[in-house]
Amino acid sequence: MKQSSHYQLKILINKDQIAETVARIASEITRDYQKRQPLLIGVLKGSFIFMADLVRQLKLIDIETDFVQVASYYAEKESSGKVTLIQDLHKSITGRDVLVIEDIVDTGLSISFLLAHLKKKNPASLKLCALTEKPSRRQVAVSIDYLGFTLPDNFVVGYGLDLNEKYRCLPDIYSMEK
Ligand code: 5GP
Repeated sequence: MKQSSHYQLKILINKDQIAETVARIASEITRDYQKRQPLLIGVLKGSFIFMADLVRQLKLIDIETDFVQVASYYAEKESSGKVTLIQDLHKSITGRDVLVIEDIVDTGLSISFLLAHLKKKNPASLKLCALTEKPSRRQVAVSIDYLGFTLPDNFVVGYGLDLNEKYRCLPDIYSMEK
């Protein structure tokens, strides 16, 4: 694998655009979950910044949060194609309105695996919110209920997204280009 120093970071989505989009998604979720008590499940680690911003914009008092962790990249820029659950939920979600919060849907393999896993636990409803997606790389069909941005086929970092655990802290989203 090439070192990240061989790549240039080019700004793709700035923090103002992100804030505007998070507010838009939050109002859609607020509208759809009135009088319900949704459980938001963040997919670690990439979604933690998005989720933190999103929950503070929701005008819903009764939300709960939990986290799972799925591994698919193994510190490489290309997906290994293998998906494993590193951290599962500790509480039952049977009968709950579950909303999964994901950073990026790329091939779709990770989120399909996770949604199938959660579905087996019999939630009342199961929806997906993704900050970004790269449709050109999709290998399995994924239906995204709340979507922020559609991206070109570039590797992106920032706003929670990493390369080898670095760059998550950047407030904007960058593409890595040679
Ligand atoms: P998928 O299984 O859809 O191919 O990949 C999903 C996971 O791969 C994401 O949750 C994310 O962790 C990682 N991933 C996919 N594309 C990118 C990308 O462009 N940048 C970063 N940082 N991670 C990505």
